[in-house]
Parts: sequence; C-alpha cells; structure tokens
Amino acid sequence: MVKTSNLSSFLWEDAPDENKFSECVHCGMCLEACPTYQETGLEHHSPRGRVYLIKSAAEGKLQLNNYFKEPIDSCLACRACETACPSGVQVGALIEETRGQLYHATPAKGAGRVVQKLFLRDIFPSPKRMQLLGKMTRLYQKSGLQRSARKLKLLRVLPAHLQEMEAALPKLKTSPLLGRGGELYSAYGEKRATVAMITGCVMDVVYSDVNEATLNVLRRNGCDVWIPKAQKCCGALHLHAGDREQAKQLAKHNIDVFLSNEVDAIIINAAGCGSTLKEYDELLKNDVRYAERSHLFAEKTKDVSEFLVDLGLIAPKGKLDMKVTYHDACHLAHAQGIRQAPREILEMIPGLVVEAMPDSDRCCGSAGIYNITQPEMASQLLDRKMNDIPSGCDAVAMGNPGCMMQFQVGVVKHHRSEQIVHTIQLLNDAYEREDSDGGMPT
Ligand code: SF4
Ligand code: SF4
Repeated sequence: MVKTSNLSSFLWEDAPDENKFSECVHCGMCLEACPTYQETGLEHHSPRGRVYLIKSAAEGKLQLNNYFKEPIDSCLACRACETACPSGVQVGALIEETRGQLYHATPAKGAGRVVQKLFLRDIFPSPKRMQLLGKMTRLYQKSGLQRSARKLKLLRVLPAHLQEMEAALPKLKTSPLLGRGGELYSAYGEKRATVAMITGCVMDVVYSDVNEATLNVLRRNGCDVWIPKAQKCCGALHLHAGDREQAKQLAKHNIDVFLSNEVDAIIINAAGCGSTLKEYDELLKNDVRYAERSHLFAEKTKDVSEFLVDLGLIAPKGKLDMKVTYHDACHLAHAQGIRQAPREILEMIPGLVVEAMPDSDRCCGSAGIYNITQPEMASQLLDRKMNDIPSGCDAVAMGNPGCMMQFQVGVVKHHRSEQIVHTIQLLNDAYEREDSDGGMPT
C-alpha cells in the first residue's frame, strides 16, 4: 500500500506514485540521455532533477506553482531516461501523473484554456469532428485559399513555429479511412490471423495514406482486418496534457469497443498512441471494473511492425532503388522497446539501402504537442536531428505521425529534399511494385 504524506502538495486522484520516485538513487546515469539536459545543462531540466522535484512536492516541500510547473512542462516525456536508468525509474509515468495534478492546481487560462477545451475536449474525442477538420483542411489546401493566404502573407499573424508547421503541412490526399468504407476487410490469400486496427486521430486525418498502406500490408500478410467505426482517440494527447479524466473515458470506451469481438491482436501504426494503448492497464489500475479488461486490451495491442515480424512477414519482391535512414520514434524505442522490427522490415525490401542515423533514438522535438507548447526547445532538437540525417538519403523512415510532421517542418526549414515516410509505406510500395511487375494479390 502506497503511503503519501498528509502534507503532500498532490491533492487530486492519481498522485505520483511514491514507489516510482523512491526508486531513484540519484546516480545521474540518465543525465546524458536526456535531450533537455543536453541542451540546457540544468539539473532541474534533467530526469534526476525532475524526479527530485516531484518527490519534494509529494513531501509538501514544494507548492504546485508556475516555478514547479516549468521543468515538468519542459519534459518531452520521451522516456530516453528510462532506457538509461539502471533502477527502472518510470519517469514518463511520474511526469504524466504530475501533469495530472498540475492540470487541477494551475488550470490553463485565456487562449490556452480555449485551445485546450476546443481541441482536447471537443474535437479529438469525436471522430466526426476530426473528419470535419480533415475536410476543412483539404478544402483550404485545394480551393486556393492556402495559396492566397500565403501570397497575401496573412499567415504572419501566427507565431513563427505555427507558420513553419503550416508551411510543412503535407497535402491531405484522401479522406480519413475511418469515415469511409466498411468495417471488415478480408485477407488476401490464405488467412493467418484476425486483427482489429486502430486508425488514430492525427494519423487518419493527416496521413490517411499511411493507414491505407497499413491496411493493405496487413491483408497482404493474411489478416482479416476489422476497423470498428465506434473507435475513438486513444487519449495520448490528453494524458500528456494532464487531462487524465478525459483520457480514462476514452480508454474505457475503446476497451469496450475493441473487446466486443474476438481478435488475435489490436494493431496500431502510431508509436505515441501505441505506448498509451499498451498502458491502459496502468491508467485504469484503480478502476476495478476495468482492471482485467484493460490488461487484456494492453496485451493484445501491437505496433504494426512488431506484429508483422512476429507473424512472419511475407517478403516483398518489388524492388525500391532508394537509400533510406531510420529514425526511432521515442514512444516506439524507449516506451515500447521496439527497435529491431522496423529495421528488419526495411532490410527485407529488395534494392533498399539502409544507412544508420547517429543517435537515431534522440527525440526530434515533436513529443505530442510539445512543438506547439515549447517551440524553442523543439526547434533546437529538430535542428540537431536534421544534421544527423546521413547525406545522400532519398527518404527518412519512422513510425509515428508526430515525428513525420516534425521532420517535414525540418525538411522545409532546412531546404532539404528527403521524403518523410512511415516504414509501412515503403513496405507497401515494395508490394505494389511487385504487383505492377506481375503478381497481383489474390
Ligand atoms: S522523459 Fe525525456 S525529456 Fe523528460 S526527463 Fe526523461 S529523457 Fe528528459
Ligand atoms: S532516474 Fe535512474 S538513472 Fe536517473 S538518477 Fe535516478 S536512478 Fe539514476
């Protein structure tokens, strides 16, 4: 049983767990792994410093004010420290729990509150509103409005980092996968598994072509795919922002939807969503009604790359004459421990030359909405990342939509020419090349 001091500054539900912060032995082995410490050299911007601040607040030695909030907000929640920590301190969970307390203690005001309510409470939890947002963005891009706004320099009213993001926004080619077609897609050829697919919010609106590629690759590998229309946002952005109440509601909804049918696995292609989905049991640990089911849901959730490699990927025969490098999304490498599977997939594509990126698992600065809330640090990290891309690459592959958008900003800002792609898109391209060379799926 966890005891919290009566004097604790953490007054709300889900206070940071004493068992987690008391495991820190202050050894400092996490310091050099932490991107914000690397950039600032400040102890309170390091994992050890942040854990110490959380412990101090739990003991009532610090108040939950803006001085306390700043180092917690500036954490990327990238979890590189967890990879480095020999004591297994769960810094990411501690940061999320602390943000949950700050959400109540220092509520957002003014424009921040409006944005928080509009996006986190009204738009993201509603697939219909997300689809509408996608429709409006496509209209903005196709109608000539975007061109006019740029020509008339209307976008200058936006902060510099939002202007950069607008400039880098990919052309939204197709409508979200969730809003069209049916729910059931059968395997091409012999059936090997039945899976459910989570389409994600940002992924489905901004990168619905990645979702299409994922669906095609799963079918190609013998999977019957179920895409339940009742699914909703996974709640990852809410958790990062401290809105645990909304995150829990979304988690319970998704558990009810996805466990209503028998499937071998629940597939996700977005690393940030995947790590949250795999930790639904931790999020709902105090909810007796969901304890067992959240655990089952977490166990069934698989990143598409790990699922395909475990299933035994059907090797593509189509050749891609390209040189690529691979970026490890933090929530794939550090949070889920998935490093090898995406690389194995790339290595299986004929003709593809894969060159290693130095420090490939250092955060690119995307980190949920970090690039919006902490633009300066995000921009510094992105600049370092762009410098790490080996020369002569045609594309950079990765497994997370937030990273893809951040890299796209980097490509525009640094006048680069690399394509930014999801690993599964390259695999799908290789299958499609195979088809055009003669072997259609049956
Ligand atoms: S989660 Fe990332 S930014 Fe936060 S303390 Fe750990 S390494 Fe540093
Ligand atoms: S978080 Fe881990 S690595 Fe960092 S100081 Fe504490 S025990 Fe050491």
